Amino acid sequence: MLLLIPGPVTTRPQVRQALAQDIAPWDNESRTFLTRLRGRILRLAGGSDAHTTLPLQGCGHFITEAALRTFLSPGGRILIPATGAYADRMIRLAREAGRIPVPLPMGAADATDPLAVARVLAADPTLSHVGMVYSETGSGVIHDVQAVGAVVRAAGRRMIIDAVSAFGALPLDLSTQPEVDAAVFTANKCLEALPGIAFAVARVDRLEAGAGNAGSWSFDLSNVHEHALRSGPGSFRFTPPAQLLAALDVALDFHDDEGRAARLARYTANMRVLYDGVRSLGLTPMLPPEHQGPVIVNVRAPGDPAWDLQAFVDALKSRGYLISNFYNTSLPTFRVGCIGAIGPDDMAGAVRAMDQALRELGIKQREPVQE
Ligand SMILES: *Cc1c(COP(=O)(O)O)cnc(C)c1O
Repeated sequence: MLLLIPGPVTTRPQVRQALAQDIAPWDNESRTFLTRLRGRILRLAGGSDAHTTLPLQGCGHFITEAALRTFLSPGGRILIPATGAYADRMIRLAREAGRIPVPLPMGAADATDPLAVARVLAADPTLSHVGMVYSETGSGVIHDVQAVGAVVRAAGRRMIIDAVSAFGALPLDLSTQPEVDAAVFTANKCLEALPGIAFAVARVDRLEAGAGNAGSWSFDLSNVHEHALRSGPGSFRFTPPAQLLAALDVALDFHDDEGRAARLARYTANMRVLYDGVRSLGLTPMLPPEHQGPVIVNVRAPGDPAWDLQAFVDALKSRGYLISNFYNTSLPTFRVGCIGAIGPDDMAGAVRAMDQALRELGIKQREPVQE
């Protein structure tokens, strides 16, 4: 079964095999291992001496909440371009943490306009931060965090990047973006490892400045940092998912062998085969080609009365391809991930399976219903 969902993704067998061992996290060997792993991740983020890698048990929401709590003061205000479903999640996480999210409204298929961000920052000096989703997994649009970062830097504000579905494929060089307090991500998307462990690559000066902000011990990245200073960089705060870290290390070996740019090229090739393939079946992708990113393709639900998302998902699953049985767009769509240990041939196979599934369900009217 291939997982064509934008996380958790299809992984290589060698990555999964790394789970099959008992590990003592407090053993000296584990400490050496974690120190090295943190260094590998720091280098992938383009981190410098000014940065550190902070691991946090759990998922992308957890590390995003931790970054919001650590770098914003209670009651602090953050501008969040409303790029889609994952920006909405950042907005909710900020609000429930007692921070004040200020959404910047925009169209679902639009890329964030750096000038619009600059205008709002100029008009509102109380906004300390901008929260950016790099790859909006809701829509499939990639946002230019370098260009937005430049206006944030010019305005003397700070930025937090949700790089959950970007890190490992899209470029990130934190050494050139001093305005970024932290970029956050997980192991189970473009790094092609397993879910359950998240990371922030963060500025040390900002972690020190943020001590006491979090209002939560579990979600305090300053405390994760202090712990590493006190007990050593290979020491984990609270029990770690040690096997997942071992699997991530193997996944990073594959990442090193492939290279970030080649991984992005592979995902882009996957997306093209899928995008062109669904069009050849008479289906309509949600995004125009110029806005379509390499991570996920949303396809408009066919207008045929026989269309049933779960039935389509089941018909694909019986052919070896699993896609999401929900969507994150305002119009009905089905969503197909292009990331993970898969290549263009797999995507061509998925398109053939979609053709068979549509026939099996008797979907003749493939155009979406007009609004
Ligand atoms: C997947 C994802 C998340 C959330 O990750 P979970 O591990 O499901 O909590 C956050 N942001 C983006 C952009 C994502 O793609």
